[in-house]
Amino acid sequence: MDVPPYFAELTLVMCGLCIGSFLNVCIYRLPLGGSVVHPASRCPGCGQPLAWWDNIPVLSYIALRGRCRTCRTPISLRYPVIEALTAAIFLLHWYAVGPGPLLFVRLLFACALIVLFFIDLEHQILPNVITLPGIVIGFLCSCVLPPGPWMSLAGIALGGGLLWGIAELWFRLRKVEAMGFGDVKMLAMIGAFLGGRLVVITYVLSSMIGGLVGATLLATRRADMATKVPFGTMLAFAALVASLYGEPILTWYFANL
Ligand SMILES: [Zn+2]
Repeated sequence: MDVPPYFAELTLVMCGLCIGSFLNVCIYRLPLGGSVVHPASRCPGCGQPLAWWDNIPVLSYIALRGRCRTCRTPISLRYPVIEALTAAIFLLHWYAVGPGPLLFVRLLFACALIVLFFIDLEHQILPNVITLPGIVIGFLCSCVLPPGPWMSLAGIALGGGLLWGIAELWFRLRKVEAMGFGDVKMLAMIGAFLGGRLVVITYVLSSMIGGLVGATLLATRRADMATKVPFGTMLAFAALVASLYGEPILTWYFANL
C-alpha cells in the first residue's frame, strides 16, 4: 500500500484536534449537569451560536485573535490549548503503543483522563458519569486486549482498594475526609484500563507529583496545610505517563533494583 509519509500521524493529529474540541464541551458542560451534544456551542458573552468556521480547532481561535466575532468577548485560551494538548497526547500514544486496537482503547482512556484532569482542577469533582462507565469499559476492553481480564480485575481491586483504605485510615486518624470517593473510583478506572502493575506506577507517580506541587505551593506561601490539592488532576497526569511509558519505567526500575 502506498500512503504519503506521515499520513497516519497527520490523520491522528487532525482527529486529536477535533476530539479535543469535543472534550472542551465535556469539560465545560459536565459539571453543570448539561447535555454534551445539545444545544450547539454558543458564545458565553452574547449567546450567538457558533458557525462551523468559527469552531475549527485552534485555527479559528487564531483567526479570531481570541475574541468572539460578534461581541468581542475574549475566548478562553483553554480551548485551543486543550485541542492542541489532545492532539499531542494522541500522537505520543501512536509512538508509544503503535497501530492496532489497543491504540483506540488507550486514546479513549486518554480522553477520559483529559476531561477528568481539567474538571477536577477547576471544580474539585470527578463525575461518576465518566469514572463508573470507565471501569466497565476498561474491564471489557481488557478482556480481549492487554493487560488481560485478571490483570484488569487486579487493577480495579488494587486501585479502588488502595485509595479506599488510605481514605478510611486518614478518616479514623484525623477525623477529616482526606479525599472524596471520586478519587477511589477514578483509580479503579485507571486499574481497569492499565492493570495492576501500572496502577501502582500511577499511584506512586501521582503521590510524588502531589508532594512536589504541594511543597512548592507551601514554600511560595500560595497554600497552607488545609489547602486541598486536586488529587484527580495528579492522577490523570500520572495515568497518562503510565499509559505511555509505564512498561519502560517498570523494566528500568527492575533492571536497576
Ligand atoms: Zn459573543
